[in-house]
Amino acid sequence: MPRPEFPKTGRAAEDVLGDLRQAKSGDVDWRSGRTNLYVQFGGDDVLDIAKEASRLYFSENAHGAAAFPSVVRLQADVLDWLLHLVNAGPFGDGCFTASGSESILMALKAARDWARNRRPDLGFAKFIVPQSAHPAIDKAGNLLGIEIVRAPIGPDFRADVAAMEALICPRTIGLAGSAPQFGHGVVDPIAVIADLAIRRNLWLHVDACIGALIAPFARRAGATVPEFDFGIDGVRSISADIHKYGFGAKGASAALFRHKCWRPHYAFEFDDWPIGSYASVGLAGTRPAAPIAAAWAVMRYLGEEGYTRIAAQILDISARLQAGLRAIEGVDLISTPDLPVLAWRVPGLPIDRVIEGMSARGWFLRPMARPAAIHMGMITMHQGPAVDPYLADVAAVVAALKR
Ligand SMILES: *Cc1c(COP(=O)(O)O)cnc(C)c1O
Repeated sequence: MPRPEFPKTGRAAEDVLGDLRQAKSGDVDWRSGRTNLYVQFGGDDVLDIAKEASRLYFSENAHGAAAFPSVVRLQADVLDWLLHLVNAGPFGDGCFTASGSESILMALKAARDWARNRRPDLGFAKFIVPQSAHPAIDKAGNLLGIEIVRAPIGPDFRADVAAMEALICPRTIGLAGSAPQFGHGVVDPIAVIADLAIRRNLWLHVDACIGALIAPFARRAGATVPEFDFGIDGVRSISADIHKYGFGAKGASAALFRHKCWRPHYAFEFDDWPIGSYASVGLAGTRPAAPIAAAWAVMRYLGEEGYTRIAAQILDISARLQAGLRAIEGVDLISTPDLPVLAWRVPGLPIDRVIEGMSARGWFLRPMARPAAIHMGMITMHQGPAVDPYLADVAAVVAALKR
């Protein structure tokens, strides 16, 4: 088939938007809780204020600090609020990014350049991470020339710190752990990894892309979640996704640092071109102001109180799902998660057949590989009304397959 040409003429705006509405109609209906992947929802009021804030700052450019001082202030507020949330001390610093992947990239770049400064002859650096760490760490390693070595995890899916220690070699510059990890929803023993990092003078990055914006509120709502933040000596950087449990617009995350002295490693300055002075923090030059404004607006709108109320509801939805799944004959939960990230399986049944059955009933599910299971990802508010129909369909599909 020939490649379509660039449109020659324009069309009426209404027709174009009509096409978009039509295009969307075949996508998964996330709003009715048919999937818990890809979209995190904190309620219609939260979504509305995020959208309105995004619209207000749709055209502004966060790269234009002098032109848009309000964007600088909003960004500084969001970073300060996040630093407070993760117990950073007076020297804490941060970098607003477009994704968890970019936050991890900035953290590992800081780690690499910190190590290079001390050891100019270092060559190919190495980071040791638990097998459960997110692939964004490997992507960052690939871009930065850091070898990422994955250590086996324990039977409870948490990092096996002795196994990590056994892999340390003279090229090792850093360690990482997750809070929680994406697969099984458990928080790695960060305090134990931090002890190791301090003993061997290694960087420690905590990937709290999921946990940073729900753990503090889940604790206030009564849940027990292991500690993982700057309150633990030895944690040097944390990645925190605002576009997950922060309920911001997509394109919002932060790399947070224990000490601002590492800022030159993720901020960039240059001057040898016709324009002269050029500076940026993070990967992009031109950056949307909309996700910054949306993050600011949602955080200001909800405050601790609002996030805690939402966390309590999400914990309740997750508890109902867990209890319901456990009660279904033949269904196993993969882990007892520290935060609302669920995965389940049906021992004896191929997971693809279970997914087929659920898809036929209108659910969008994804498999996970180790162990073979259905990965529910992050539970959020739109799943509340879907809990009972979901459990009923799981029970019906599993019963039918067992026959
Ligand atoms: C989502 C996620 C990432 C990557 O973040 P993106 O925003 O998708 O780039 C990294 N680590 C964990 C634990 C995540 O859940």
